[in-house]
Amino acid sequence: MASSTTSNSEGYEPKHIENRLFINGEFVPSISGKKFDIINPNTEKFAASVYEGGAEDVDVAVEAAKEALPAWSALGAAERGAWLNKLADAIEKNIDEIGYLDAISMGRPYIGDAMAAYAGYFLRYFASKALDVHGESSLNTAGMVNVTFRQPYGVCGAIIPWNMPLLVLICKVGPALAGGNTLVLKTSEKAPLSCLVVARLCKEIGLPKGVLNILSGFGRPCGEAIAKHMDIRKLSFTGSVTTGRAIKKAAADSNLKNVTLELGGKSPLVIFDDADLAKAVPAAAFSILSNSGQACIASSRVYVHANVADTFLEAMKTTMAKIGQPGDATAAGTSRGPQADKMQFDQVMSYMSYAKEQGLDIRLGGNRIGSTGYFIEPTIIANAPEESKVVKEEIFGPVVVINTFTDEADVLKRANDTEYGLYASVFTKDISRAMRFAKALEAGSVGVNCTSPTVAIDMPFGGYKQSGEGRELSKHCLDEWTEVKSVYISL
Ligand code: NAD
Repeated sequence: MASSTTSNSEGYEPKHIENRLFINGEFVPSISGKKFDIINPNTEKFAASVYEGGAEDVDVAVEAAKEALPAWSALGAAERGAWLNKLADAIEKNIDEIGYLDAISMGRPYIGDAMAAYAGYFLRYFASKALDVHGESSLNTAGMVNVTFRQPYGVCGAIIPWNMPLLVLICKVGPALAGGNTLVLKTSEKAPLSCLVVARLCKEIGLPKGVLNILSGFGRPCGEAIAKHMDIRKLSFTGSVTTGRAIKKAAADSNLKNVTLELGGKSPLVIFDDADLAKAVPAAAFSILSNSGQACIASSRVYVHANVADTFLEAMKTTMAKIGQPGDATAAGTSRGPQADKMQFDQVMSYMSYAKEQGLDIRLGGNRIGSTGYFIEPTIIANAPEESKVVKEEIFGPVVVINTFTDEADVLKRANDTEYGLYASVFTKDISRAMRFAKALEAGSVGVNCTSPTVAIDMPFGGYKQSGEGRELSKHCLDEWTEVKSVYISL
């Protein structure tokens, strides 16, 4: 995905920050009346207080989604697509507000970040896919015409993380609604504000009530109530492996709802000695610094051939130091903000302490920046043991491990020696080797002479191994939100 500057949110001040739940087309306080605070990670100051959805609010939202289902699923696909196109237009017109609210809740800079602008593009793509929901026919049985229907699940659930609130929301809402489902979506407790703008826009465009319900709240009790709900037929989750496991268990313990999971990663990037380093270095640096390293597909493990390791490491130090300086996410010109909140900051800093305690070779960074705001230096750890936590675990910060190799088979084994399998990449000019790696790397997406965040809307996105199951984007996205029925017609 290209990164470009479209606008900025500096100086933007919303007139009003919506803090209620969006149920049945209306904003309502939570039944318990409980609220939780959002702290601005740039300043560590109070940003907003938001109503916390609980299990009882989930029940009300599910009832609203049930009510809305017959009329919504009976619409023609083009009509449902038209609603999504209207929402896309509305989101594009309100992009400053959305960008500002993400900046003050989870520290994502709006400037230089095309994600918000991509939202409309993604939504229109999903709208167009509504018309591609087709069954098949078979004349292979004598005296019969057999056909399949693809039909909506009905009332569905979605639970999303904080690191890309708008885009992940759209990747659920778009295909779920295009496929004729109604939806109860829970946002992350770290970043609920921008999604409530989407809720307001649904109201403004007049989307039928109950088709999309958006709840702010914590994993427990709100997310858990969605995962366990007996009337939710399908749940799409994006987040950590730990939560993904809890969600699958909750689904199994309740109504065995269909579950798709988009989970974490520890993505390897292999750089051979014939690679174009002028291309590989900025790509590797951008991959780990984009969104302050808070990206499931970040290339957080780099394996560089020993013949070019010194050159590569020096160039990475210079490039990361240059492009990795963070700033206030609401300020013009900021391309990297702070970590999302104190919890994320503490988690990344605990890996820094571990690296120091273990005497690991920290070539760049390793520290907090300043004393206010959750800012962390761009960090390189070199030659870490393969079994160490910094190689094995998802740090979710601007921290890259750079190890060396000499043998192709050995580096392939090390690249694949992980329970994750979301994204992997290789840089080489040898086409046969590139293809060998593309085939052998155990990941749902592979970059050849490019790396994450390179993805394309018409290509499937999802994980191998514990990085998840199911695919988003592409022609496959609607398959995940529709069931197949076989119909036998005797002649
Ligand atoms: P998380 O798992 O902590 O939380 C994700 C969501 O699940 C939140 O809304 C949270 O409130 C909810 N939740 C927590 N516990 C729950 C429970 N027991 N039942 C139901 N819901 C529960 O993840 P996070 O910190 O928000 O996001 C970061 C993680 O998401 C990283 O691991 C990252 O790699 C992953 N991620 C994956 C993708 C992808 O497409 N594969 C995209 C973005 C983020």
